Amino acid sequence: MKLIIDFQGNSATASLVSETPGVRAVIARAWGVYLNDERNVDEPGVADAIQFINRDTQSGHPPNIHEYTEGVGGLDRFAVCVLYHIDRVLRRPHGYPVSNTTVFLLKGLLRLLVESDDGQGPLATALLTSGIIGTITLVLCSFDASTLEGADDVRKRCFNLLTRRFDLSPSYPSLAESFKSNLVHAITTCAQNDLRMDDFLRTLLQRVLPRSLISHTVLSAIDRPVDKDTVLLFPQPDPFRDSELFQLWDRFNKTALRNVRILQAYNKAVSTSVLGCDNMKCEQIRRKNELMRCSSCRAIYYCSTACQALDWYEDGHRDVCSHLRNLRLEFAAEPETLSTRDRSFLHALVHYDYERTLRRSCVDKIGFIRQNPGEQFYLLFDYTRGFERPQVRPVGSPPDPNPSEGSATQWADQIARAARSGGRLNLVVVLVADGEHISRRMVPVRSPTSALHDGLSQIAGRITSGADLAAFTPRIMEDVSSLLRERKERGDHRPVWQRLVVPE
Ligand SMILES: [Zn+2]
Ligand SMILES: [Zn+2]
Repeated sequence: MKLIIDFQGNSATASLVSETPGVRAVIARAWGVYLNDERNVDEPGVADAIQFINRDTQSGHPPNIHEYTEGVGGLDRFAVCVLYHIDRVLRRPHGYPVSNTTVFLLKGLLRLLVESDDGQGPLATALLTSGIIGTITLVLCSFDASTLEGADDVRKRCFNLLTRRFDLSPSYPSLAESFKSNLVHAITTCAQNDLRMDDFLRTLLQRVLPRSLISHTVLSAIDRPVDKDTVLLFPQPDPFRDSELFQLWDRFNKTALRNVRILQAYNKAVSTSVLGCDNMKCEQIRRKNELMRCSSCRAIYYCSTACQALDWYEDGHRDVCSHLRNLRLEFAAEPETLSTRDRSFLHALVHYDYERTLRRSCVDKIGFIRQNPGEQFYLLFDYTRGFERPQVRPVGSPPDPNPSEGSATQWADQIARAARSGGRLNLVVVLVADGEHISRRMVPVRSPTSALHDGLSQIAGRITSGADLAAFTPRIMEDVSSLLRERKERGDHRPVWQRLVVPE
């Protein structure tokens, strides 16, 4: 191996070496033997192989990744070996400093991993399945404040790899993997120590991380101490406060903490899934398992066969049932990107936020009703940048589902039901990041009576037309407050949602 590396060191023979068939396989085989041996953490053999790889990737010839992987025993074996080795180097007993050899090793590996197939090919897939996201985060944590030559290069490559991966396909399990390996620590320390990371950190804190905070999987990973001394949230060392990234960090941190508390309450709640009978003349709201489901479309629930008959014959479910059924079959073929648990938690989150922001959205609804009497509206919850105040939008305005989409039938059915419900069914559209897309989901919120809706319409009616709405705001707030007090006394909000008790 020494001989090959010596040849490589001479520029005249270097390209000859790179073009010699099988030379990489030989290196890889030798290297595989070292990597597979428990005792060989810092063996010169590993360093030699890495040196070869480093020169090979710098030589201008694209490295032939297949030769390397075949030498170790296939793509998957290669991925497992490399990651296992890095983990082993990095998890050495506390206090063991990151050495120049480690930097050298990681530089070579990252170049090979990231640049050889542009993070898209079969190697990238094998690495992802083997847990490279966790390993890369671990590398970042070990190199957070290292001033060794080349350490900043390693940091940069790691952040580049993470942001690109999360931006391309922000899968919740891989984000969770990164949080478990203490991504938060890597971010806060790099923000203090290395200004060149600002662009990556900004992308992570502004776009990638906040939108993942709706996921049960991600929040569970955040709500978990890394070890007995380290808790993920709230590491706010003073020097970081001066960084211009601090505001972004602070906003992310607050949303994360808020949603973790909701998660904890959600995990403790006995029953969370509560639905209303879909006969809009019926006021029953029960747990999902206490309702009967339409056996054909499986999208609609009733409290009794009488309610089903009424909805079928009088309210037109027979006209939409088969559409809804086809829709279900169509969607069954497509994989759902959010796990069942993520979807269930999203419902809880929306219901919680609906209640929490109710006073403000009631005032907005009054403004809408006054300006557009008789028009239907929906509430928009946008979770793509963390949490934002819900907005009142007229039905038919973006981003409600457009007619060319499959979900339009379902949405149209919800709109018709909301119109019949006299304010007991509130239309809610939720925007969430879903893989690389932004997806729209419907999370209707039900009330057992229409008292609140009627009250809002009355308040809107009392405001003289042409009057300046702003001048009425204090009065409107007062009226809304008394409506909400009455609602609480009636217990209207209780059956809709087994309220999550979230400590402030
Ligand atoms: Zn049906
Ligand atoms: Zn009913």
